Amino acid sequence: MHVLEFVLAGLVAFLVCGYFQLPILVWTIVAAAFGGWLSALAGFGPAANVVLGGLFVEKEAIDAGTVWWDADLFSGKPDWNKLLAVPAPRLSAEEQAFLDGPVEELCAMCNDWEITHEHQDLPPHVWQFIKDKGFLGMIIPKQYGGLGFSALAHSAVVMKLSTRSAAAAISVMVPNSLGPAELLLHYGADEQKNHYLPRLAKGLEIPCFALTSPEAGSDAASIPDYGIVCKGTWQGKEVLGMRVTWDKRYITLGPVATLLGLAFRLYDPEHLIGNKEDLGITCALVPTNTPGVNIGRRHLPLNAVFQNGPNHGKDVFMPLDWIIGGKDYAGKGWMMLMGCLAAGRAISLPTSSTGGVKALTRFTGAYARVRSQFKTPIGKLEGVEEALGRIAANCYVMDATRVMTAGAVDLGEKPAVLSAIAKYHMTERARSSVNDAMDIVGGKGICLGPNNWIGRGYQMTPIAITVEGANILTRTLIIFGQGAIRCHPYVLREMRAAKEMQGAEASREFDDAFTSHIGHVISNGVRAWVHGITSSRLGHTPANCAEETRHYYRFTSRLSAAFAFLADMSMMGMGGALKRKEKISGRLGDVLSMLYLISATLKRYEDQGRLKEDLPLVRWAMRDMTYHAQHAIDQVLSNFPIKWMATMLRWTIFPLGMSFRPPLDARNRDSAQIVLAPGAARDRLTAGMYVPKGETDATGILEAAFLATVACEPIDEKLRKALKKGKMAARPGVDLGTLALEKNLITQEEFAQWQRKESLRKAVIKVDDFPQDFGRTALVDADATRPFVRAA
Ligand SMILES: Cc1cc2nc3c(=O)[nH]c(=O)nc-3n(C[C@H](O)[C@H](O)[C@H](O)COP(=O)(O)OP(=O)(O)OC[C@H]3O[C@@H](n4cnc5c(N)ncnc54)[C@H](O)[C@@H]3O)c2cc1C
Repeated sequence: MHVLEFVLAGLVAFLVCGYFQLPILVWTIVAAAFGGWLSALAGFGPAANVVLGGLFVEKEAIDAGTVWWDADLFSGKPDWNKLLAVPAPRLSAEEQAFLDGPVEELCAMCNDWEITHEHQDLPPHVWQFIKDKGFLGMIIPKQYGGLGFSALAHSAVVMKLSTRSAAAAISVMVPNSLGPAELLLHYGADEQKNHYLPRLAKGLEIPCFALTSPEAGSDAASIPDYGIVCKGTWQGKEVLGMRVTWDKRYITLGPVATLLGLAFRLYDPEHLIGNKEDLGITCALVPTNTPGVNIGRRHLPLNAVFQNGPNHGKDVFMPLDWIIGGKDYAGKGWMMLMGCLAAGRAISLPTSSTGGVKALTRFTGAYARVRSQFKTPIGKLEGVEEALGRIAANCYVMDATRVMTAGAVDLGEKPAVLSAIAKYHMTERARSSVNDAMDIVGGKGICLGPNNWIGRGYQMTPIAITVEGANILTRTLIIFGQGAIRCHPYVLREMRAAKEMQGAEASREFDDAFTSHIGHVISNGVRAWVHGITSSRLGHTPANCAEETRHYYRFTSRLSAAFAFLADMSMMGMGGALKRKEKISGRLGDVLSMLYLISATLKRYEDQGRLKEDLPLVRWAMRDMTYHAQHAIDQVLSNFPIKWMATMLRWTIFPLGMSFRPPLDARNRDSAQIVLAPGAARDRLTAGMYVPKGETDATGILEAAFLATVACEPIDEKLRKALKKGKMAARPGVDLGTLALEKNLITQEEFAQWQRKESLRKAVIKVDDFPQDFGRTALVDADATRPFVRAA
């Protein structure tokens, strides 16, 4: 009964305040009264505990990075005008020239089958080219001899390489991501920067960064690796240093690194550098030729063959000035890592995943046009079309998100939450796209060899899922956990007031933030409900956007208000328990993520000039993402532990039921059509990827076969009709082209065109085979350094 009274009275109060748009003071007084009533009903603890109970992640993670568009999405009232006013990110002429020159050249040098199967590494001349052209120093400023590229250019380079060779992309990506160069740039002492950055930029040093230990994977802050501050002899002199013991694994570039970035916990039991005994996680740069450093052994991560392996050392003495930033940065390693993670994570995995999906989109579309079954190109069979349309629309969303996120980094942001969203959703979309593409390509995708352009990508997909924050953890702990504190307009203020301030100032700041917070919750609740009963018609839209997409802004404004309301009610309802309810926080994170991906997609449509040809992709994606956001909200409500609250929330958010629907088949067909035909929309969708010139390898042949197939379709049609009308009869062992030529049904030129198309088509459907022993016996006689010989 009390609950019903509360709900009814609350509803009336909300409507009156909301309808008359009463001042915040009135909202606050009403809210405070209801807050007290709610606390009594639910048996909540003091307000501060309710609000702060949602603290998910440690302080360094909370303080790390910045918030950007995510704060708007969390506010429940995204300012679309602000988003659309952000200029579209652009490459400089110099960056574009690098992409058209050295990057194109590097792609052409990489033969993925030779790299992954024969060399099991990049060949020496490819490594040298990477070093010589400055690929390892893209993020290093020009003053240190680096390329000084923007985040967008860095992303464009990694994306293009990813469409050709994962080993090349990763070997370039890692030194430009979280590691020695980035840590030095932010925290390095001048001597360290002046010594190492020019060497890193020129490829004279190969860096790696070693954090992960056998006992500490996702929970990296618990690394058991340690250093003890002590005196020792270094280059003939007694110096203050540390004896470091570590055992690391999975370290990318570790087996060939010359410079080891090493994270360990530093202790000072003799108080040689201060009063503290346990100084905390510390990052040092260790030349790998230092006696006692063991590198060289390799893991084999799913045949990706980029250099990756363990390293270890016991009681290795190193001077204190090997600590990045010097002695003053002893114990600040975790803060340094968290600070740098946001920017690096915004580029590496979102970019390489987008590159992978661009290649899948272009080549799977081409294959689905070249390959026929039941006398039809398989891409035109509805079941295949469904998967193909999904890949194409995913590709649009991913590239939009890649560009917007890299653009945010170029605006000076270190988007901690958005980079986690981009990392999780781009890698998951890559996983679902490669599954779709494997289904379409069938047996040809399964049998590995130089003619298989998809199998290696499929094998390697879990790597991106696992690194830089494994995906389950990223989804269920980081996105909402960090977002709820960082992006929320009031929670961080309340936390800081409660934890970092004292006395009257603390209570003034807390009260101010808390009362505003209550007003914010109510305002979002009212707007969510009003949008619900008006089917989003009153949702905010930008002043200047394409009319054909205006309703999507309304839908998203509605979802944002619903999300913000639900997020607050979840924190209030579950308090600290929400931290352990990863299924709930994962779904809340899904809603926030969908809002971000939708924003990126809509912005791309505007930035590219509202191209109508791309509209099917946008429409499919919008329906898919609004539907997913709605589904995630529904799942939160269905599993909400306080049932009466769940009912109240459902009435508020879905007063007329759930109205968002999944994408229409027609949009899916139109999306698939874009990649089944040559044209500007297909080129735009896959822009920035490497397309081989000539017919020198599997993808070059596929591209040529695709164009030849489309060009030859009128001739094929002629042949089909001639056969049907009895103008020629099929003869075993004689192809249709020859029959038609014999009967003068096609010209000599048409016959030549048809023959060329047929020979390309046969090359495309060809699958590799090998000798019984895969050539091992021949190998032993010929060249013992290569594990397998080339396919016949
Ligand atoms: C190819 C490759 C390259 C790598 N490169 C580097 C490198 O250069 N440097 C480096 O330091 N490290 C590197 N790593 C390590 C990588 O960052 C770790 O693999 C990653 O942090 C996950 O750790 P783990 O593999 O031990 O998995 P675990 O930590 O054992 O996790 C297993 C599963 O549990 C989930 N999980 C864990 N905790 C939670 C939680 N609280 N809530 C929900 N789910 C959770 C994870 O999401 C995962 O699904 C690399 C790894 C690989 C495979």
